[in-house]
Formats: sequence, C-alpha cells, structure tokens
Amino acid sequence: MASIILTILISTYPWPIRPFGSALQVSATLGDARESVADPRFHRGIDIPASVGTTVYSIISDTARWDGSGVNTYVRVGNYWCIHLEDRRKGDSLVLGILDTINTPPDTIGKMLDYPNGDHLHFQIGPAGGPFENPLSRNGGPVGYNDTGSPTITIDFWRQGSEGDTAQQLVGVLDGRVDIRACCQDTQTSGGVNNTSGIYKLTWSVDTVGPIQTIIFPQVQPPNNGDSVLLVYDRHNYRTASPFYCWATNRIVNNQVEDRYWNTKQKDNQPDSVDAESLEVARFKDCYYWVLVKAYDIRENFDVAKDKETDRIQDDVSELPSFDDVQKEV
Ligand SMILES: [Zn+2]
Repeated sequence: MASIILTILISTYPWPIRPFGSALQVSATLGDARESVADPRFHRGIDIPASVGTTVYSIISDTARWDGSGVNTYVRVGNYWCIHLEDRRKGDSLVLGILDTINTPPDTIGKMLDYPNGDHLHFQIGPAGGPFENPLSRNGGPVGYNDTGSPTITIDFWRQGSEGDTAQQLVGVLDGRVDIRACCQDTQTSGGVNNTSGIYKLTWSVDTVGPIQTIIFPQVQPPNNGDSVLLVYDRHNYRTASPFYCWATNRIVNNQVEDRYWNTKQKDNQPDSVDAESLEVARFKDCYYWVLVKAYDIRENFDVAKDKETDRIQDDVSELPSFDDVQKEV
C-alpha cells in the first residue's frame, strides 16, 4: 500500500495556482487549433481559467526567468511555463517551488493579467524551442485531474487533398483516393465542464482489412505553423468553434504531419500509392465496406464512428467483372 501511495505522490504534480492539490477547470488543451488559416499553429499547453489578479506559483524550485511582452508576458522555471502574467518577479532569480515547501508558502512568480476574451493561465511544459509535452498526461497529469467523459465523433468523406472544399465532399460511391474527416469533441469532466477538442488520438480502419492507421498528438513541436496544422484540421472549419474537424487519414510521425489517404483503388499486396489495373488484383473489391474511426481523449476514453460506403475500383464498372462475377469465379 505504501508503495502505491508513493507512486501516486510522485506520479503527479501540483497545479500552479491555488488550490494546488485538487483539480481545476481546463478550458483548452494541447494540440488545439490556434490563430487563423493565414497563421495556423497548435496550442502548446493547457488553459486554466481563473480571475485577473490570481496569484501564480512555481511548481519547482529553480531560477525564474521572465520574458515576453503585453498579454504574452510569461515566467519560465525549468521546463514549466506560466503565460499571461503581470506583477511578475523582476529579473532572473531563484524561487521556492510548491513541491519543495511544507510549512512555508511557495514564492509568487506573478499574477494573472486581464486577458481579452477571458482570463486564464496558459500553462505549458517543455524546453525552450520545444517539443512541448501534454501537461494532462505528463507523470499522470496534475493532481486530481480526471476525464471520464467519452468523446463524440461523426465522420464523412472527401476527395484526397480537397481540404474541406465543399464541392469535393464525397457521398455514396467512393472512388480513388479518399480523405476521412472526423468531427470531434470531448467534454472535460474534471474541475468543471467545458467543451474543448480534447482529442489526442484518432485511428481509422476499413472493414477488417487493416492495418489500423493512427494520428496521435503526444506532443507538439514548434514552429507547427502553416500547412502541417491544416493537414490535421479542416481549413474551412479552422478554429471557428468546438467541435473540431480533423483529417483522420493524415498522421503525425516524429512531429511531421503526413498527407495520407485511403486509396480505394489500391493494388493488392502493393503500397497504397499503386493503383490496381483490374478488379481481380484490387485490394478492395467492388462491394460495401465499414469505415471505422475511433477518437480518444487523454484518458483513453473513446467513441467509434462507423460509416458504410460503397467502394469501386473503376469509374466505369461495366468494363470490368462485377462483384458477383468475381464471387462466381471463386
Ligand atoms: Zn493557452
């Protein structure tokens, strides 16, 4: 029992504002869409709502370094960043962190400023220049944080590379290279209810032919600007509101986003970039398939969206054996 308690104690860390040891509300999460289509980026931490003037403390004891300007003034202690502060400590100086105090109060590093569109502390973890870890999963997350609500998703289909151009949404028969878009939202249930994206992993598969493809947000690496963000989020719905529209077929590998697709014309036993020249050698015969997409939150709660679509190997199927004919040949 003692080792279990010790594991709990060392596997979490306190919140940077009082009360340090119980869950606070989280209104935005790592990887959320930020800024605009002209200047897109991933959100690099979490947002903790609290009123202007709230005192902010350091998690650890180390040198506090302040920088930034205006509303983005921040104090960084080690890899912990607290942004949107005023009345910050002047100059670089050693501070006593929450983790190193028992009877004496920790040092103040600043107070929350009056932030447009809602006062909040932006809290992020990572070295200068990144990558930035997810504060809600690092060492089990801050004390008491939990997320018991399951995400909800729906899916639809688009011509690969159409990036949400409404003229290129696909309905009915799918043909060629297809992007799967997932409309996701998750309710953060810890420390109050607040709708954010809160989706950290998407997986998709077609019928049982696998393998399961995955897009995952373990961390974000600056600059994260430009097209890579728009390969994750639909530019036509970029940052309008939750829920967020994610391109499930694309994926992040080593912090690089790859523009992927489901090739319904793929040749069997070949890479998905190779089209089949006839139905006989097609990986996906002319029939119905279930397309499955799973969306996970940070606690691995998930929802499944399932859509039944017809897949065809060629536009003009009259020149090819029908699915029934293939079945008879077998
Ligand atoms: Zn923020």
